[in-house]
Amino acid sequence: ADSHKTPRDQITPRQVRDALFTWVRPSEQKDPELLAVSPAALKDLGIKAGEEKTEAFRQFVAGNKLYGWDETKLEGGYPWAQCYGGFQFGQWAGQLGDGRAISLFETTNPESNVRYELQLKGAGLTPYSRFADGKAVLRSSLREFVVSEALNALKIPTTRALSLTLLPHSKVLREATEPGAIVLRLAQSWLRLGTFDLLRARGDRDLIRKLATYIAEDVFGGWEKLPGRLESPDEPTKSPSPKRGVPASEVEGPSDAAENRFQRLYREIIRRNAVTVAHWQAYGFMNGVLNTDNTSVYGLSMDYGPFAFMDTFDPAYTPNHDDYTLRYNYKNQPTIIWWNLVRLGETLGELLGIGPQVDDETFIAKGIRQEQEKELVERAENLITQAGEEYKAVFLNEYKRLMTARLGLRHFKETDFDELFSEGLDTMEALELDFNHFFRRLSTIILADIKTQEGRKEKAAIFFHKEGPSEVVGEETAKEKIAQWLEKWRVRVLEDWKEESSHDLSEEKDAERRQAMKQVNPNFVPRGWILDEVIRRVEKEGDRQVLDRITHMALHPFEDSWDGAVIDGVEYKGNPEEEQRW
Ligand code: AMP
Ligand code: MG
Ligand code: MG
Repeated sequence: ADSHKTPRDQITPRQVRDALFTWVRPSEQKDPELLAVSPAALKDLGIKAGEEKTEAFRQFVAGNKLYGWDETKLEGGYPWAQCYGGFQFGQWAGQLGDGRAISLFETTNPESNVRYELQLKGAGLTPYSRFADGKAVLRSSLREFVVSEALNALKIPTTRALSLTLLPHSKVLREATEPGAIVLRLAQSWLRLGTFDLLRARGDRDLIRKLATYIAEDVFGGWEKLPGRLESPDEPTKSPSPKRGVPASEVEGPSDAAENRFQRLYREIIRRNAVTVAHWQAYGFMNGVLNTDNTSVYGLSMDYGPFAFMDTFDPAYTPNHDDYTLRYNYKNQPTIIWWNLVRLGETLGELLGIGPQVDDETFIAKGIRQEQEKELVERAENLITQAGEEYKAVFLNEYKRLMTARLGLRHFKETDFDELFSEGLDTMEALELDFNHFFRRLSTIILADIKTQEGRKEKAAIFFHKEGPSEVVGEETAKEKIAQWLEKWRVRVLEDWKEESSHDLSEEKDAERRQAMKQVNPNFVPRGWILDEVIRRVEKEGDRQVLDRITHMALHPFEDSWDGAVIDGVEYKGNPEEEQRW
């Protein structure tokens, strides 16, 4: 468990081992070119600014130097690739694993005390590469680099990216031949729900228990950090829980009253994922491939393939062109993550005290009588139902909190859900408005300017695309529809912000409200077309500055100065499909 603190020459075995990973060395890379570094990731790792300019750093992030570099005190170990499985599009897909990711070591930032596992993506073959080449192309690596850091800047839990390296000698064959690249990624944990799925398929009950224990003790920092007894699903946080060192047999098992510690672990994983999905929904982020191998035990957004930020609001949208059934579209994300979490619950069944679920033979071998079996099934159903209630409650609380803030309100009121959230979203959908622009532009409205119907209709136009309102309804109808919603919003803002004595909002208070809104409503999100344009310039034109600029914008998404930010004629403010629309 403490291998990350052990000097390099006496590395002790990690607690999770044997069949869950393989030692593997990254390939040598000739002449790696460091394309981009995230200052935020440098800081979070506790690496001094300036270190990224050294030769040692360049070699390290390319996988040519396994031990970090002396100045930064990053530690080393022997690199490994993880083994996991997964349900892909609802079907069990068997063993997967890190096919092109190789973990280097764990390192703890002494100031924040946060531990990260550093990992190279695209550094060569591993035992889990299956039919593929272990490489990553520049296109997908650049997308992952930028979006990881963008999501983090938006305070959305995510795996991170420190650097993007171009491999000038690596030609990767995809649909065409493309340049290869490596991203150095970091996360508090790279474990996925799919890690458990694999063990369940193997029927490896011992390793399921070991892995669950490792996650509780090592990844989450101890059983005592996990949520306490469930009282009301709205309030379950950190009440006292079994002490460390208490033998498992004394606190777990199917006793009805006491919640066993693995239930609390399960709930922690559920709660983290619920919070993250709420962020995706509130910020219009779509992962695109929410298979269980892409669902984090730590609740991080992870595995960036065909991800996208919502442009024109369409709840049925999926950025994944192969997702014919729309399984992973925007509106299904909360349900799908829950589906994945139920698979985890089934795997943990025995540990949760709801009977052996691993394989029926064990179940029968134990000689459990029919009544007992019925009772176990009932208990399992209850537990999953209860866990589902908690997932829903945590998701809704977080979603309400985020949407309340995005709309510039300080307090949530029950009627807001239908009258502001739903009606706002319906309006966006009906009029084909841009999701993230909607909130940012709303943040600029001076409340006094929309006191009259005339004022509201005038302001309504700021939500249209550059080319004018959509053609679904006429311009006049569109303005009226927006104005109608703006009036509801105005009344709520007034109610929420005004001082008792007055019936208007003071100028200062209103300015404060707009400022608060701008802190949560990004002026920049890395949309697909923006990333395409950056990739084109880096690949085809050898432009190196454009990536720095886009990284900077992704790291500071709330700045006013991105208004009309233009890079060589392209407005980096976003647009659905074609930039000309804006
Ligand atoms: P994904 O669809 O990104 O979740 O990937 C599914 C599995 O395929 C994972 O185990 C990946 O590591 C693996 N994989 C994807 N692309 C490659 C590649 N180019 N080389 C090796 N393995 C890959
Ligand atoms: Mg994956
Ligand atoms: Mg992937």
